[in-house]
Amino acid sequence: MAKRWVYLSRNAKETLTEVLGHEPALDEMKEIFGGKGAGLAAMTAAGAPVPPSFTITTEACVYYMETGEFPEGMWEQILEAMQDIEEQTGKQFGDPENPLLVSVRSGARQSMPGMMDTVLNLGLNDETRAALAELTDNEWFSYDAYRRFVTMFSDIVMHFDREHFEERLDELKHKEGVRTDPQVSLEGMVGLVQEYKGMYKDEFGEPFPTDPYKQLDLSIRAVFDSWNAPRAVAYREHEDIPHHWGTAVNICTMVFGNMGNDSATGVAFSRSPSSGEHDYLYGEFLVNAQGEDVVAGTRTPQQVSLEGSREWAERQGISEQERKSGYPSLEELMPDVYAQYLRIVDMLERYYRDMQDMEFTIERGTLWMLQTRTGKRTAKAAVKIAVDLANEGIISRTEAIMRAEPEHVEQLMRPSFDPDAEKQRIARGLNASPGAAVGIAIFDAGRAAETARQGKDVILVRPETSPEDVPGMLASQGVLTQKGGATSHAAVVARGNNIPCVAGCEEITVESGNRRFTAPGGMVVSEGDTISIDGFTGEVFLGAVDLIEADYSRQTDLITLLVWADEVRSLGVRTNADYPVDARRAIDFGAEGIGLCRTEHMFFDERARDAVVRMILAETQEERDQALDEMLPFQEQDFEGIFEAMDGKPVIMRLIDPPMHEFLPPREELIEEVTRLRCTDPDSEDLAEKEKMLREVNNLWEVNPMMGLRGCRAGIMYKGLTEMQTRAYFQAACRCAKRGIDVHPEVMIPLVGHVNELILERSKLEEVAQQVIEEEGIEVPAIFGTMIEVPRAALTAGEIAGHAQFFSFGTNDLTQMTYGYSRDDAEGKFLLQYVERGILPNNPFQTLDQVGVGRLMEICVEDGRAANPDIELGICGEHGGDPDSIDFCHRIGLDYVSCSPYRVPVARLAAAQAKLRHE
Ligand code: PEP
Ligand code: MG
Repeated sequence: MAKRWVYLSRNAKETLTEVLGHEPALDEMKEIFGGKGAGLAAMTAAGAPVPPSFTITTEACVYYMETGEFPEGMWEQILEAMQDIEEQTGKQFGDPENPLLVSVRSGARQSMPGMMDTVLNLGLNDETRAALAELTDNEWFSYDAYRRFVTMFSDIVMHFDREHFEERLDELKHKEGVRTDPQVSLEGMVGLVQEYKGMYKDEFGEPFPTDPYKQLDLSIRAVFDSWNAPRAVAYREHEDIPHHWGTAVNICTMVFGNMGNDSATGVAFSRSPSSGEHDYLYGEFLVNAQGEDVVAGTRTPQQVSLEGSREWAERQGISEQERKSGYPSLEELMPDVYAQYLRIVDMLERYYRDMQDMEFTIERGTLWMLQTRTGKRTAKAAVKIAVDLANEGIISRTEAIMRAEPEHVEQLMRPSFDPDAEKQRIARGLNASPGAAVGIAIFDAGRAAETARQGKDVILVRPETSPEDVPGMLASQGVLTQKGGATSHAAVVARGNNIPCVAGCEEITVESGNRRFTAPGGMVVSEGDTISIDGFTGEVFLGAVDLIEADYSRQTDLITLLVWADEVRSLGVRTNADYPVDARRAIDFGAEGIGLCRTEHMFFDERARDAVVRMILAETQEERDQALDEMLPFQEQDFEGIFEAMDGKPVIMRLIDPPMHEFLPPREELIEEVTRLRCTDPDSEDLAEKEKMLREVNNLWEVNPMMGLRGCRAGIMYKGLTEMQTRAYFQAACRCAKRGIDVHPEVMIPLVGHVNELILERSKLEEVAQQVIEEEGIEVPAIFGTMIEVPRAALTAGEIAGHAQFFSFGTNDLTQMTYGYSRDDAEGKFLLQYVERGILPNNPFQTLDQVGVGRLMEICVEDGRAANPDIELGICGEHGGDPDSIDFCHRIGLDYVSCSPYRVPVARLAAAQAKLRHE
């Protein structure tokens, strides 16, 4: 049998079943028919009213991309399919009496909103236009359809920019003194079509093609080609969509939403794409319009449901009376169609088991479904929808856990504007994508991307956005547009990419050319001025508004989802916390202990500074001991606060780690000061003091401090230092235990490379611990372990494990030393370029290098467990909060990950997903 390149929607699933030899799953259908084609097939199969249509497969596109030719047999199959839809509709393509008109639409496997091309009203020429006028008894409509077709065909197929055509239409409207397209006179439309055809001929030297099959051939090629348009390529790169997939092409009988006031077109979501609520149907439509009018944002769309319409009116400050007369809902205008639509929505959501984004057209009172796809949504909506669908029994809890993306959780932990901050509100638009953003206003997408590359926060401000603006949008902190509704391009792209967006802010006038916008009252905001936008409320503020942290405790859906995740995961989640306040916060976020307390942070405490410097500079042990005695209470106090917060949970105290010079004034500064004083005040006491300090700093100076006297090496060389820390720690533990707090102290010795370092430090510190326990007269269950940060430690794990009760992978240092990249310099010098140029797949300081560093970890886990089966294994480097790295940690069998407090929720989700993925 000849290869099948074309499938009729009415039996696409059955035909594919024959071709494959098994019934295709939805994903398989999407692979071949694209999302839109699969949607058409599924909707038809489910009994929804879908205009007769067929799909050219993604495989045909791939063939075309490789060869520049249609595959053999494809065109013949297209002709057959056309015949079939001619029979279904009783119309004929190109027929001067009863013409069939079709749309040619792209549709990739995964939705790429607005990225590729669509041609509508195909099949029109002078003759069929006349027939259309007669059949619909609407001359105006036929010319309107014709001028739209000439515009789209010229723009998309011939790359003759649509702006040339739009300009003429605007001029015409101006001349006729009207505001909207439907107000243009019939004579105006007739003249416009003539003018358009003339423009085409002038541009290409030949008349506009009248043969419908030639129109079809060229349009299919154009849609195939649009797969490789720069904006589509950029989008795929951002979304990690493979370039070799190709797009399907859908040929669909045209139905018209612009056949008069009993016709309409719109889009709706089965649940709110912004909040996830589903108390009513969320969507917008326009009476007497074609789909592009809804998206273009040139007319204000009406709300589909009555409740939605009332809420919208309230937000816009429109009275109920004005709403009813000027912007009634579909529910009010066409109640029967609305009821039918509700039934279809419910059916499609149950079929797809997810929130749907649907396009519909009402042609003279008859509802047609044109498209359904899984809707893009904000982080908040994603979590709510997953939890609600599970609670409604549509999906399982496990599926809900897998559906929430780690980035969604990260997004939900992001800040919003402080309600008490001083704000100067200058305008309000539509709250199109939630989140708070502060940045400088930039009026062009290219400049926005460029400015963001320089490390500045940008708010992209546009009259409205189009696919060309996407790279600039993705680089921005937020997007503000003057025109367009909740389903406008700006809103859809922003929501899909977690970018705060205020759209349809009609109160401002954006002049991109002059690089400024004017707010009510004449206030002018120019490029470079800082503004703040609130995607939760739609407000726009002048200047930078203070941000506050996300309120986790009020995010009930997220909390529910994470409780489900906790029931699934086997990997523990601890936190890296240095202060009691961090520890308390992490507990609220669900941390199960502290995996890393970097005690050196306590050394920076202002109250202890003096003693710390004296401890380092001490010339005698006596002087040092005295300084250490002074430091001890500060350490102890913080430890007590941490134990209190972590009541019942383990707390890992990591002994002093950085090189000592970090606690002294910088060498360069001292050299400068000393030089200056030698010239200006050579006999001053100040100079003598600075010279002494400089001598000490010079003594401590190292060429490679990260590989120098730090970690356990410092503990060994500075007598009394780690003893003091251990004493402070156990005094805090014992004293808390006496107050009834359940303490689980764990002492972590950093940067061990040879087992003897560990043996030496551990035995010394265990003695101190024991001494304190005896002094305090209360037993506490302490354990001692080490970090694995030096490759040699990983390679000799068997030996080391004999002397450690736990290992914690310090993957920051382990990455530094495995790669030989300085963790302080690499990113600024070459690493980001490495990633950009594809030399490295990603930044190994953010995402664990599973092949190299990961290999060391595997060896370490295996040898460590073989030598000491009870050893507790964790990770506390930055990778402990990165979802991909967490997946790896699960796979190699670690007991827990530890990450910063704000990443604890994402780690809980990622750990559960890892478990489910590898079950
Ligand atoms: C590490 O090296 O991964 C680690 C957690 O320690 P630090 O970042 O403090 O060196
Ligand atoms: Mg380290």
